[in-house]
Amino acid sequence: MPRQDRISLAEMARRSGAMLRRGDSAHFDPSKGVPPTLADLTESLFFSPGDGRIWLNDQRMLLIHGSAMGHLRRELIDTLGLERARGLLTRAGYVSGARDAQLVRERWPGGDAAAVFMAGTRLHALEGVVKVTPLSFEFDIDRGTYEGEFLWEHSSEDDEHIAAYGIGTEPACWSQIGYATGYVTSLFGQLVVFRELECRSMGASVCRVVGRHAAAWGDVTEDMRYLQAKDFQRLAEGGALPAAPRVAAPAAERQAPAGDRHEIVGASSAFNSACHQLERVARTQATVLFTGESGVGKEAFARRLHGISARAANAFVAVNCAAIPETLIESELFGVERGAFTGASTSRPGRFERADGGTLFLDEIATLSLVSQGKLLRALQEGELERVGGTRTLKVDVRVVAATNVDLQAEVKAGRFREDLFFRLNVFPIHLPPLRERRDDIPLLMNHFLRREAARHGRHVTGFTARAVRALLHYGFPGNIRELQNLVERGVISADEGAPIDVRHMFRREQLSQEALLAIGAHGSLEPPGDGREGAGVANLLQHLQQALGGEQVPLPEVEGRLLHEAVQASGGNLAAAARRLGLSRAQLAYRLQRAGGG
Ligand SMILES: [Zn+2]
Repeated sequence: MPRQDRISLAEMARRSGAMLRRGDSAHFDPSKGVPPTLADLTESLFFSPGDGRIWLNDQRMLLIHGSAMGHLRRELIDTLGLERARGLLTRAGYVSGARDAQLVRERWPGGDAAAVFMAGTRLHALEGVVKVTPLSFEFDIDRGTYEGEFLWEHSSEDDEHIAAYGIGTEPACWSQIGYATGYVTSLFGQLVVFRELECRSMGASVCRVVGRHAAAWGDVTEDMRYLQAKDFQRLAEGGALPAAPRVAAPAAERQAPAGDRHEIVGASSAFNSACHQLERVARTQATVLFTGESGVGKEAFARRLHGISARAANAFVAVNCAAIPETLIESELFGVERGAFTGASTSRPGRFERADGGTLFLDEIATLSLVSQGKLLRALQEGELERVGGTRTLKVDVRVVAATNVDLQAEVKAGRFREDLFFRLNVFPIHLPPLRERRDDIPLLMNHFLRREAARHGRHVTGFTARAVRALLHYGFPGNIRELQNLVERGVISADEGAPIDVRHMFRREQLSQEALLAIGAHGSLEPPGDGREGAGVANLLQHLQQALGGEQVPLPEVEGRLLHEAVQASGGNLAAAARRLGLSRAQLAYRLQRAGGG
């Protein structure tokens, strides 16, 4: 491997904040429960079957049939040949390992070095890939040493390899080797290479794996061959050790400063599709109409459109039509001549004139009066306008970008919006999806706003608790991105210095839906997430009830009666549905209702 690449890998990991110094297996006792424990890691994995997603903290995960992976693996080998297939799988494993290292680094920034290191072996097992038993490990980052030996049992990759090809002479746990290399390398900030010395695919009963600092191995050319496809380098620079959210900033444009509140951030397909449309139309002179709910970022998109257009050097003028009283909107847009009306003591240009040569963004366009709509149409069609009270015709060269959160076509039908203006504006509509339709972007946006708000308010906050991540991922966001931004800002301000943001720092209780995401419970089955300590949950419930009832006493029969009736009401009187909500049979519910009713 060329020396330069070795440095860049290490450099990347260092920049992403390696905090480990040293540790070893002799001083690590897994029974001591030093976080992150297996239970802590398990709590980061949760299922949201209702919307088709599984999360490991803020990373979307997939549950794939082992046999489907085996099929894919076999096709890769058959079409690309063993060497290239091995490279692809090793690199994919590397990305997983680096992602998991990132998760552990962010969730347990001050974690015990050895426990943080062990977390990789536990996550690998939790993800269903392989059971890892450490024989020994020892590292000292200051001295640049790393040495570890592990046993791998139940390797999923071996299962599939052996099923397809039988026992051979080469090790086959390629993506797992990639994972170990990716995890340890990105945690330690130095290239640590793993090799499989014995493998089940070679006839051994378990796989035996050794990891060493690259320099200690001597020649790692062979290992690096599988880690260094051309596209992998691109991935490593932008994706394998992701530190910052992807900001959709075309290369031609200057990167927005960190505090810019108009950055647009996302990676989901819905977001990308809007970005593609934006890039396509930006170069033209076409009028653009942004549609979408409040808070989806219409102004940010309009600014980006201007920023990458030929008009970028000239003014971007934004007008929220709904924020200006109807009596003033015309003079605001088109300017006013002295003496036009009482109080117009001087002449002044309107927003249209100020946007000459640039872009005029008209937000909430549907609120314009029909008279203003007529003037706007003329300005669009003829490039001409007259100031209020004026007689001169002024020429303007303005690109109009409009936005609305209502259905303009319906407004036309209702006679509140000019049809000719609608057609003039609707040349190139771009729909911006609500946040709930681009949930994949929530983690990116969370991290983006966290960095930005922490910098803006001078706070040091270490991230989000698992419960906070869960709450955000499950929240409906009626106020879209703006609401997410506000929640994170509130969290940044309310959280303790040097600690993560918890649910209570962001949400008021009534904002949260009780529909739970499912987390893995202590016995490996899916359960609604608690906070991991049953006692604490009960104490909270009791406290909550005391508060709700306004006293020290919680009369159990009364509480039960209220619960029963609320469940029946919430189920529209359907006793069977109400019983399901309470975990009772219909007969049990009927009995209890009767008992409660009868005193
Ligand atoms: Zn193996």
